[in-house]
Amino acid sequence: MTDRIQDFLRRRREEGGEGPCLVVDLEVVRENYLAFAKSLPDTRVFYAVKANPAPEVLDLLARLGSCFDTASLVEIEQVLATGATADRISFGNTIKKERDIARAFALGVRLFAVDCEAEVEKVARAAPGAKVFCRILCDGAGAEWPLSRKFGCAPAMAGRVLEHAHRLGLVAYGLSFHVGSQQRNPQMWDGALKASAAIFRDLAERGIHLQMVNLGGGFPTRYLKDVPIVRVYGQAIFRALRKHFGNRIPETIIEPGRGMVGNAGVIEAEVVLISRKADDDKVRWVYLDIGKFNGLAETMDEMIRYPIRTPFDGDERAPCVIAGPTCDSVDVLYEKEPYALPVSLEIGSKVLIEGTGAYTTTYSAVGFNGFPPLQSYVI
Ligand SMILES: *Cc1c(COP(=O)(O)O)cnc(C)c1O
Repeated sequence: MTDRIQDFLRRRREEGGEGPCLVVDLEVVRENYLAFAKSLPDTRVFYAVKANPAPEVLDLLARLGSCFDTASLVEIEQVLATGATADRISFGNTIKKERDIARAFALGVRLFAVDCEAEVEKVARAAPGAKVFCRILCDGAGAEWPLSRKFGCAPAMAGRVLEHAHRLGLVAYGLSFHVGSQQRNPQMWDGALKASAAIFRDLAERGIHLQMVNLGGGFPTRYLKDVPIVRVYGQAIFRALRKHFGNRIPETIIEPGRGMVGNAGVIEAEVVLISRKADDDKVRWVYLDIGKFNGLAETMDEMIRYPIRTPFDGDERAPCVIAGPTCDSVDVLYEKEPYALPVSLEIGSKVLIEGTGAYTTTYSAVGFNGFPPLQSYVI
């Protein structure tokens, strides 16, 4: 929470601003970018646009020299609208329509992710001569928001995928992986880099010289638990690169999303109702005007546990179930593990939900139950 955000919210309240809103402080985004650049000095930063595609965020990062990881044509156009050139864009989704690849290629994009031979064939037809990197699977252990098996192929398959790309006239450029989002263990890059180095060696024996490792995202935001600072990640990654690649360290890129914008944003919400389900119920139900459908989707399975500040912090606390405002029973944020909130909390109290700069506005429905999408201000 920054003074700038606090001042902004106070003014908004005075002016009668209504409804939950996210406020993102660009100064924090700038600090985060500079911390990545400093902690991984030989690594280019490709901001993962999906975390928060607000034009002000993209403009700032473009000015600071960032590159961009995109997943769709709309995201590519959002980046180009900042004035950044297409050579700073990676089309990093492994699941693309061939006509979208062709349009991205026509816009100047030359770097594409693949994880199977069928996708390689699409890129070869629609973006002849482009660079491709193959995503390898990572188990996501240690991550609070693991990315499962949806993207990437087994390391044993990656060599064949890239060899196929090479034969079809593409540049077999490198490898990528994602160690899982909100990855609290900096050592988790080691195993993936070990597998990457083995693929580099194997392909070199076949005359294909890969050049790049895309280290993905996964850099955390501080929620309720402490997380290591980005410098610790930079050091662990550098050590792993040295260990597995020796003095032939390849070009590297990172794709931070959450770590770039998460701590730059705060959501202000309002308590709509506090109730109990029975006279002897120990747990109060606290209903907010924000829930899973208007910004807090990452509370799914209670995976991301946001810090919640209230005007009564310091008072005695008691366990609460926290729920959203819609008439869908899945719109409950924390129930399996109740959340301790001050007993003095009242209907109408404003609460501040911290660390919400990433994966909130874009996860907000257009109007489920008539609740409007999350308002966003970038200051
Ligand atoms: C979502 C995504 C990221 C960003 O991940 P964070 O954990 O938010 O840093 C990076 N790369 C790819 C390919 C992604 O899909």
